[in-house]
Formats: sequence, structure tokens, C-alpha cells
Amino acid sequence: NKQVLFASRPHGWVQESNFKIVEAEIPALKEGEILVKNLYLSLDPYMRGRMSTAKSYASGMELNDVMIGGTVGVVVDSKNPDFKADDHVLGYLGWQEYGISNGKGLNKVNVSERVPASSYLGVLGMPGLTAWVGLIGIGKPQAGETVVVSAASGAVGSVVGQLAKAHGCRAVGIAGGKAKCDYVVNELGFDACVDYKAGHLAEDLTAATPDGIDVNFENVGGEIMDTVFTRLNPFARMPLCGFVSQYNSTEPYGIKNFGALLGSRVKLQGFIVGEHTDLWPQAMQELSQLVAAGKLKYRESVADGLDNAPKAFIGMLKGENFGKQLVKIS
Ligand code: NDP
Repeated sequence: NKQVLFASRPHGWVQESNFKIVEAEIPALKEGEILVKNLYLSLDPYMRGRMSTAKSYASGMELNDVMIGGTVGVVVDSKNPDFKADDHVLGYLGWQEYGISNGKGLNKVNVSERVPASSYLGVLGMPGLTAWVGLIGIGKPQAGETVVVSAASGAVGSVVGQLAKAHGCRAVGIAGGKAKCDYVVNELGFDACVDYKAGHLAEDLTAATPDGIDVNFENVGGEIMDTVFTRLNPFARMPLCGFVSQYNSTEPYGIKNFGALLGSRVKLQGFIVGEHTDLWPQAMQELSQLVAAGKLKYRESVADGLDNAPKAFIGMLKGENFGKQLVKIS
């Protein structure tokens, strides 16, 4: 069983040397356990936080743990009456070829041509739920309002903008590079996208948001968030989802425009998707309907095999992914 272990704690940027790839024996199944062959592993920015000892909403990993991660796989053997061979299952079995579960946190999923296994790690999985909980549950956008989302071509951001459109809003993305911005507008149907790497963020954001911003779905923090602060309308809402631009930095970014939030009476709310399970059924219903109707498009960056997982993870934190970052395990 090939596994990727957490070998050492990164300081600043994650390095491939922070991981160790090993082969381990698969233990015999005990009563109640299920053996799952993982098909896809999800790589997500939150994993950077678990490699750190900094104070967080979740406790960090210990050295030599199998790297944590969401997986979708197929049951190969089961001593648990709720699961049988060939069931497709979604769970957190980590960066390894095979995982053993006692069934807790393992959920059966229906895989079809329209809804492939990998979609349960993206648009119909944790990132899709994050987009819904943050935008609809917290941002509460009204038709006609302007919604801005950063990391717009990514797993979460791409769903936020398309949901905003489905709710009658103007959707504006912020993303790195022309290719990502073209995709966000032409393929995902956002009204505009600002390329923050083009060098005139403030001017371009002003041009893209002529009526100001009513909901800012924050994924990146840093200078981008600071610039968005200056465009917020009175009583704007700001779901704080992530600060990916800061996860590998050793120097905190100094916000300059915090005062604008008071002037605009902005409501900020940080949230962790796993704490909003009450909203998941409604979220899943809307997301699956939109996927089935072809109104929720997504793109995946798929690394081949666990050997390439560390490199793909580091690349995602640097913006080298284009859409949901996955690893195809088998
Ligand atoms: P993405 O698929 O969007 O991948 C990360 C993207 O972040 C990169 O592609 C890159 O896009 C962007 N990025 C990286 N560095 C920078 C930078 N310095 N400045 C601006 N953008 C940068 O990841 P996810 O969709 O999975 O996650 C998006 C955010 O949502 C993250 O902050 C994550 O931590 C957060 N999150 C929070 C959850 C919660 O419960 N609160 C749950 C899930 C995710 P580009 O090339 O456009 O710069």
C-alpha cells in the first residue's frame, strides 16, 4: 500500500522534502471494517494549515502520519453490513492507495457518466458545499447585486460565481493570468474577471464593479482583499473563506483599508464548511440540480499517481492548478 507520510514541518513554502513516500502492509480487516481502494485524492489548501503548529480551528498532523485528505474510492472488501464490494465511497482516507475505515465518515455515492467519481471531491463535494454555505448561507446575495470572488477559476471560486449568476447577480471573478480569466468569463459565464497579475488591480476592479460590491467571497486575503475593501457598498456582506495568499508567508500582510469596513457597515463572517452541516442538504440539492442541468461547469487538474502528489500540492498553493486539483490514484 503506497502512502505519502508527513515527514517534516515546512517553514514558509512547502517543499517536496516535507513528504515521504513509503510502502506499507495492508492489515487484515477486523469486524466492522471496510477496505477501500482509493481512486482519487483531493488536494486542498487547508492541508497546509494541518502541517503547521499554528493555532487553528483544527488540530495539526503529527510527523509520520499519513497525509490527511478527502478521497473517493471503491470498496474491495467489507466486514461492515452497511457497505459491500464495488460500492463507491467518499471519505477522508488520506494520501494512500488503500484505506481502512470503520464506516464512520464514509458515505456511499452514486457514480454515473453525468456524475463521475471525481466530482464528489469538487463541485458536489467539500469545495462545492463551501461555495454554497459561504455565498448563499452567509453572503445572502439578492438579484441585481454584485458578487466578487477571488481564486475565481478554482474549486470553490468557480462554483461561487456560477451560483451568483443562478441567483440573478452580477458575478465578478479575480484570478491570476489571462487564461484563467478568459475561462471564468467565456466558459463559466461570469460577467467579468480581473487578472490581478496584470499590474493594475485597483483600476481593473473599479472598471469591473461599476456599481460597487455587495458580496465579497474572500478566498485569498492580502493585497487583493485590501483592494476589494475600497469597493464595498454600504451593508456589504463578506464571507471569509480562506487566505491562500498567506498560507506560506512568514510575514503577515498589513491591511491598509480596514477603515473602509466601518464606513460601509460591512458584515464579515469567517466560516468553516464542516460546521454548517445543517445547510448541506439544501446545498447538495441545488448543486446537483445545477450539475444535472449543465449549469454548473467545472474543470479539474489531475496529477497522475501518489508519487506526483507532493509536487501537485505545492503547485496548487502557487496557482499552477487550473480548476479542482486532484490526484488519480488508480
Ligand atoms: P483553488 O482550487 O482555488 O486553488 C488555489 C488557488 O489560489 C490557486 O489556483 C491560485 O489561483 C490562488 N492563489 C494562490 N496563491 C495566491 C496568491 N498569492 N494571490 C492570489 N491568489 C492566489 O483552491 P480551493 O478552491 O480549494 O480553495 C479556495 C480557498 O477556499 C482557499 O483559501 C481555501 O483555504 C478556502 N477553503 C475554505 C474552506 C472553509 O471551510 N472555510 C473550505 C474549502 C476551502 P490564481 O492562479 O487565480 O491566483
